[in-house]
Amino acid sequence: MNNVGDREQIEFDVLFVGGGPANLAGAIHLMRHAKTQGLELEVALIEKGANIGSHALSGAVLNPIALKELIPDYREEGCPIETDVRGDEFYFLTSERHYGVPFVPKYMHNKGFHIISLSKFVSWLGSVAEGLGVNVFPGFSGKEVLYDQDDKTVIGVRTGDKGVGKDNVPKANFEAGIDILAKVTVFGEGPRGSLLQAISKKLHIFDGKMPQVFETGIKEVIQLPETNYFLKSKGNDIHTLGYPLGLNTHGGGFIYEMKDNRVSLGLIVGLNYQDPMLDLYEEFMRFKRHPFVSELIKGGRVIEQGARTIVTGGYYTMPHLAVAGGLFVGGSASMLNAPALKGIHTSMKSGMLAAEAIIEAFNKGTFTQGALSYNSRIDKSWLKEELYAGRNFTQAVSKKGLVKFLHVGAQYLTGGRGIFDKMPIGEDSKVLTPLADVLSPSAEKYDKQVYDGVLFVDKLTGVYLSKTQHREDQPCHLIVHDPNLCVDTCFQTYQCPCTRFCPGDVYELEIDERGRAKRLRLNPSNCLHCKTCEIKDPYGNITWTCPEGGDGPGYTVV
Ligand code: SF4
Repeated sequence: MNNVGDREQIEFDVLFVGGGPANLAGAIHLMRHAKTQGLELEVALIEKGANIGSHALSGAVLNPIALKELIPDYREEGCPIETDVRGDEFYFLTSERHYGVPFVPKYMHNKGFHIISLSKFVSWLGSVAEGLGVNVFPGFSGKEVLYDQDDKTVIGVRTGDKGVGKDNVPKANFEAGIDILAKVTVFGEGPRGSLLQAISKKLHIFDGKMPQVFETGIKEVIQLPETNYFLKSKGNDIHTLGYPLGLNTHGGGFIYEMKDNRVSLGLIVGLNYQDPMLDLYEEFMRFKRHPFVSELIKGGRVIEQGARTIVTGGYYTMPHLAVAGGLFVGGSASMLNAPALKGIHTSMKSGMLAAEAIIEAFNKGTFTQGALSYNSRIDKSWLKEELYAGRNFTQAVSKKGLVKFLHVGAQYLTGGRGIFDKMPIGEDSKVLTPLADVLSPSAEKYDKQVYDGVLFVDKLTGVYLSKTQHREDQPCHLIVHDPNLCVDTCFQTYQCPCTRFCPGDVYELEIDERGRAKRLRLNPSNCLHCKTCEIKDPYGNITWTCPEGGDGPGYTVV
């Protein structure tokens, strides 16, 4: 074996890495179908969060199409649904006003879909999977991919060590990671998966593909007073466009009604923005302070906050989906319906199709790339239809000004083809404009924000409300490869944009008395695991690695 050494080993038939909707749906589907075919499979699922669902965050309207296929009687089975969508509202915001958009595109019609807390939903899927016999191991991060002697066939993953000190020396409570071996490993790590990046370097799964592009969402759950907007509103699924981002930075806001007088509210920002002074958190606060939004949430209290990236490039940015012994599902494999801004049902379906391909491979007794019929199953399913229809969407909305609407309109009329098919898009890390060339940097728009600590909370309170925790005495999981580059080149050119795009206040710049950058200080224990820093850093100087299993956010309702 290539990199399998003297670690403790456990062997399963199938290993799912990541406890999100894609892998959980895949594991459930696998267990059910294996049983009907008389196959006895030993299946495991590892998740880096302390609990299944503790790292799940999404502005979540669930299209139940995949869930109905997976668990037809999901309501009776206890699926946690907050509310059903009774109507969609879509507004264009200027700095002071809001205008109802008269035409809501069909892919934004959500009536009848479900508003969920992704954290609760995923936790429920986890319990269903466990009930079917899946060995679910929360608190275990996949640290390294294991390969067979051919150095091409994936045979499992090594989990991260626990109990290593800041100085990289094992402490008294040290527990070595174990090698979990499997005939097929399914990678569903979510956006910018570390293991996917590693596989990509070795097996070139992104060769010939457009670069994956991302959006970062900051989201809150707000407890409203009993008398609130949603008591009388026609719609409880609200989307906004325009302010605060304008038309040159793509993204928008959402507000979804939850049960018990709560709302889920967030702002999503495309990471191909150009202004290095743009601050994601400040933009989120500006969104909340807009007269229309602030009226909706008046008298409320933030009870949870979090941040996460989503992969929005779509069909043309999907990696090659299978290698010998390995399959890629969910967000990490770009399975998002970008026009609908929905990835839960598409991720679930990808996991289910992976499960079907795995069963076929077990029946054949071979797990080569060719034997894993995952790709062809996607091609024949509604998943392909959805993803293909949105293949140029993010590329179009990333255009500046009104041109984007021209492209989106053309795509709408031509089933996604639009004016150019295979519309190009650049890497998010490569599009920042040097500060000297920015005519009116965003920072000028940020008044001194007033935080009341209740409805408007500062970044650090937001981190507290995400229940993020990391064991302090461990090696820093954020690798800044060349600290000098930060204080010299990056400071001069972009004024260290990491201090603004990180929603967790992890990066802090020390300035000396002469206004020069002295040091970039890191607070890794604030990290929300959103991966924005690795994606947006203009020099590729930051690498996000998995901290100890069980660390990170502790979402329960967002
Ligand atoms: Fe996100 Fe990186 Fe900040 Fe962590 S350090 S919260 S991954 S931007």
